[in-house]
Amino acid sequence: MKYISTRGQAPVLSFEQAMLTGLARDGGLYVPESWPTLSADEIAAFAGLPYEEVAFRVMKPFIGDAFDDDEFHAIIQRAYQGFNHEARCPIVQIGENNFLLELHHGPTLAFKDLAMQLIGQMFEVALKRRGERVTIVGATSGDTGSAAIEAFRGLDAVDVFILYPTGRVSEVQRRQMTTPTEANVHAISVDGDFDDCQARLKDMFNDFDFRDGVRLAGVNSINWARVLAQVVYFFTSAVSLGAPYRKVSFTVPTGNFGDIFAGYVARRMGLPIDRLIVATNQNNILHRTLETGAYTTKGVTPSISPSMDIQVSSNFERALFDVYDREGGAVAQLMEQLAKTGAFTLSQGALARLRLEFDSADCSEDETSVAIATVLKMTGQVICPHTAVGVKVAADKRMTGTVPMITLATAHAAKFPDAVEAACGVHPKLPPHMADLFERPERITTVANDLEAIKALIKKGIRE
Ligand SMILES: *Cc1c(COP(=O)(O)O)cnc(C)c1O
Repeated sequence: MKYISTRGQAPVLSFEQAMLTGLARDGGLYVPESWPTLSADEIAAFAGLPYEEVAFRVMKPFIGDAFDDDEFHAIIQRAYQGFNHEARCPIVQIGENNFLLELHHGPTLAFKDLAMQLIGQMFEVALKRRGERVTIVGATSGDTGSAAIEAFRGLDAVDVFILYPTGRVSEVQRRQMTTPTEANVHAISVDGDFDDCQARLKDMFNDFDFRDGVRLAGVNSINWARVLAQVVYFFTSAVSLGAPYRKVSFTVPTGNFGDIFAGYVARRMGLPIDRLIVATNQNNILHRTLETGAYTTKGVTPSISPSMDIQVSSNFERALFDVYDREGGAVAQLMEQLAKTGAFTLSQGALARLRLEFDSADCSEDETSVAIATVLKMTGQVICPHTAVGVKVAADKRMTGTVPMITLATAHAAKFPDAVEAACGVHPKLPPHMADLFERPERITTVANDLEAIKALIKKGIRE
């Protein structure tokens, strides 16, 4: 399998190269040159298999010869051994034909662990074989950073720098990033919002002297390997509810469009998904775009679901690439317009095709809190604010009928204890392995929202 850039001007790469690179050199994102498909029989055979085995079968067509079968099996085993649930991503029923897919049983309690633990293992194997080192720089709205630090801490071949927006992540998220003691991980508090962090990250990737000098690698959801890892649980959950002989729908709490795009990939591969619903909080640029065709950035309003406080949704570019018939030039033009004016307008044809793939709705702060309280009352279960955004949107969008709705439970409630307690009166407890998080000393470096200052900090921190 070869990987091409959504902007059409970067070198074609193998899976391993695309994984180690992150952002393409033309500013685009790597995507497979075609979508491999699985037959109904192959999908049906997933029923009852361990998560790791389904992961192997779903991802195998994408990785080419990056890893041999034994190596890839071992990588997947190691990636998920730290999860505290045998099923890895269990589903629970919360109502009639209404399910949650729990993606928060990994070490940092959010779905980011599913992809990050896997690429930690893949980076380690690939870099050891090449005898190379890389510098990983990531931008985070909270969960990516903690998942990356957890996945890469202590590895010899990587130094990790995570940019997070000062004051805009929850205390648990911050502490998960600032308390690890390994010398190769660094949490950097940037005086700005998430979009600023993401923009500086893109600036670094587009600065080829710096990029090549420090051997920059990216693990944000722009990294194809992360999206790929997330395709797996769309299959496991759908099959457990009767796919491929029965359709299912998904509602996905969405920020950077990575998770929902993984659902789209599952559909391209042959999983019979009825509807894919984008659920946003009050930062609803994706919902507005699907309603009107105009992608117009407005600045971020902080919410109680901070991991979705995003206006520039990177992975949306991958969807645009497909609905513009994979014409890199057309995508590059839209992105140039976005960079210049903060907005672009979709063609009627592209908008119509997007609407065939994705449905959408947004959820206010009050509605989010009400959803937390309602689910607690109905089921005794305490959900996180991001999940609550999904549950609320799923309830609004669910037609009566027999198609099961699966809402992705993207984080554990204990990552966002204040918002959860305010909503439902229950203070969610951290699991035992994290019980002393608030006693551990923090290491924080603060920096202005300034490219040169951030670059200098990173250069200084790289180990010899
Ligand atoms: C990252 C994150 C999201 C948004 O996922 P995207 O792939 O960026 O759309 C939603 N909920 C939680 C808890 C997250 O950490």
